[in-house]
Amino acid sequence: MEEIKKIGVLTSGGDAPGMNAAIRAVVRAGSHHGLEVFGINRGYQGMIDGDIIPLPPTSVSGIIQKGGTILQTARCMEFMEYEGRKKAYDQLQRFGIQAVIVIGGDGSFTGASIMSKEFDIPFIGIPGTIDNDLYGTDVTIGYDTAISTAVEAVDKIRDTASSHGRIFFVEVMGRNAGFLALSTGIACGAEGILVPEEKGQLGKLRKYLAERAAHKKSSIIIVAEGDEEGGAITIAKRIQEEFPNLSIRTSILGHIQRGGSPSAYDRITASRMGSAAIEALLDDQKSIMIGIVNNEVAYVPLSKSIKLHKDVDRDLLKLAEELV
Ligand code: ADP
Repeated sequence: MEEIKKIGVLTSGGDAPGMNAAIRAVVRAGSHHGLEVFGINRGYQGMIDGDIIPLPPTSVSGIIQKGGTILQTARCMEFMEYEGRKKAYDQLQRFGIQAVIVIGGDGSFTGASIMSKEFDIPFIGIPGTIDNDLYGTDVTIGYDTAISTAVEAVDKIRDTASSHGRIFFVEVMGRNAGFLALSTGIACGAEGILVPEEKGQLGKLRKYLAERAAHKKSSIIIVAEGDEEGGAITIAKRIQEEFPNLSIRTSILGHIQRGGSPSAYDRITASRMGSAAIEALLDDQKSIMIGIVNNEVAYVPLSKSIKLHKDVDRDLLKLAEELV
């Protein structure tokens, strides 16, 4: 295989705090190893459009603490088709880019895996999503920050819930996964946590409301947006009909969970993963994701990270129930 000299880096799919720290690490570690790094703006859309800029080491100064992504991100339908990916490949050729580092979630890695096979070009994935839903890594970049953001918001909701003796259904993000909801719920001492991974929680919630809710000053029920019973609004409406005497409110935390300055932990994780991605490329790896498992850097085939399902921590689910 020819020696890699020029690489591209992009952010794709949903943004997450710490993506900038990962871009910085890729650029600085790449430069340290003598590579020329290019930034591909707006994810796969920018690759198709040739929206590609050189990223010298100084271009990433002062971004480690910034939320969002300086390269911007996009969802790109054209990349789902072969013709779109062919256009993207031609642009990479035009810039002499021999390998790509993709910071994103499972959708972005699916695209990376397909293009890597079609055009025989190495793609290394760095997991960047607040959902923490990728197999092959204990944590994803942005998850730790999002937990803190959600906890801060729920603490504030708790103040008003206690003052009025109300029950709040708070919806947190996480797409089809309950990691963010579960962690937030435990950290906030929530009275109920509804996640897609666990069935039958609504029954337990009804029992709790019937027996205990009247004696407590307030209750916080965390609902993962992907819960099979519906979102916070749907569930709260049903519960209100069943318990007309309870004072129930809902709150959807929404996109504040995606923003903000990344936590120290996310910055360090992003830095480790960015550097590991460069090392993987220099080791002739072709289609893998960088993970952190038991606090060690790990490498997992992109195909596995996409196909296999990561379950929430069952001990944490039990703990949440025990501590109500
Ligand atoms: P995330 O990476 O956060 O899961 P998305 O699921 O929106 O975000 O995926 C990001 C982008 O990855 C999509 O807009 C598309 O360009 C590309 N992508 C996703 N799935 C595929 C696929 N099956 N084939 C090719 N590209 C894909």
